[in-house]
Amino acid sequence: MSSYLKDLDYSVVQQCMHCGMCLPTCPTYRETGMEKNSPRGRIALMRAVADDELEVTKAFGEEMYYCLGCLACTTACPAGVNYPELFEMARAEVEEAGVLDHPQRRFWRWLSLQLIFTRPRLLRLIGRMLRLYQVSGMESLVRKSGVLCILPKSLRELEPTTPKIRPAFSDELIDEVERPEKRETKYRVGLLTGCVQDLILADVNRDTADVLLQNGCEVVTLRNQSCCGSLHGHNGAVELAKQMARRHLDAWDLDSLDAIISNAAGCGSHLKHYGPLLKDDEAYAERARQWDVKAKDINEWLVEIDFRKPEGEAKEAMQVTYHEACHLCHGQQITQQPRSILNSIPGLELNELKDSTLCCGSAGIYNITQPEQAGKLQDEKVANIVDTCATVTAVANPGCHLQIENGLKDCGASEVRVAHPITLLAEAYRAEGGD
Ligand code: SF4
Ligand code: SF4
Repeated sequence: MSSYLKDLDYSVVQQCMHCGMCLPTCPTYRETGMEKNSPRGRIALMRAVADDELEVTKAFGEEMYYCLGCLACTTACPAGVNYPELFEMARAEVEEAGVLDHPQRRFWRWLSLQLIFTRPRLLRLIGRMLRLYQVSGMESLVRKSGVLCILPKSLRELEPTTPKIRPAFSDELIDEVERPEKRETKYRVGLLTGCVQDLILADVNRDTADVLLQNGCEVVTLRNQSCCGSLHGHNGAVELAKQMARRHLDAWDLDSLDAIISNAAGCGSHLKHYGPLLKDDEAYAERARQWDVKAKDINEWLVEIDFRKPEGEAKEAMQVTYHEACHLCHGQQITQQPRSILNSIPGLELNELKDSTLCCGSAGIYNITQPEQAGKLQDEKVANIVDTCATVTAVANPGCHLQIENGLKDCGASEVRVAHPITLLAEAYRAEGGD
């Protein structure tokens, strides 16, 4: 039986110097004011487990799942504490010990982590069935019939937030290889289509391919891509996360590519850590390290290659605010690049958002597992967005996209559009009338 926290390099476990600088940035500590709900408190608990001074109990497990994994503490920490690794290992420890185990939870974890999110064809098939259910009128019939009242309260409350499945997924919108037509090809990149992103925001993947083509990149989009494993890694399923990472390393011809591009912050942050994840796997360790060097967020890559600024003038000004996805700003330290992209768009006026780096409550599946705390963060985020008077909120992560879109709808501000910065850039290129 492995012990994830005890097996960690001890220098990671003892990095925290208890200064408390992370405390004001932590959403759960801000909510309760309790030390155990703070990064410092959680790290102390993790260290106690690693030191064999504390057993992994149900209370420990609940604390690790009360943490959003937003990584705001990582940005605030002057000691460079590797909280992402501690957090993932602590959750893996909780799963290994089985302290939160009960049949319903076991079933949902098996269904999602083990069955659906390891089988891309099955995931897309479920997506198509859900789409049929949504557009055939069945969905509204079921809602009107009142049959949903048999669902547990938590599921009943979640049901109206079910995302709309797109009519076409990435493989139908993007060819396996696309080359710039009117521009010189300078780079060859792989495009990751994601799993949730592919079902509900496949058009963002099309926009990403278009923007890359506009910037001299040949785009390779492998068919039927698997989940990157971030969902597994963030939820204590380390072995499955490794399996998903190996799949990507097997699928992509890394040497032929200058970069592997992700446009989803949560995936991107995980994708850059295949090296540490597979460090003990002789067959994959070296390739995983090379992968980490080539894994790039789309905003980061475009600034790195000095992206082409869209030309022309806008007919009217567009007021845009920008929400910083946690796994982009805290997980990848990418803050200026999306702003550079937005500021390059003709007519776009960027209205800065108060507490732009504060989590919106989406945090992977946190809005499902901890709806109350997630709802409070959602309300705060949406109120700040409404205060900017922007008509568009730019967001670079599918989870945040949905969370903010639902929050805006609930507070009667559904006219505020939510869009990926890359979608806005793609639209600006299209407005030039070029290719
Ligand atoms: S990841 Fe977020 S919620 Fe968890 S300890 Fe850090 S700041 Fe707090
Ligand atoms: S800021 Fe870093 S070193 Fe200071 S208490 Fe928080 S985690 Fe520990």
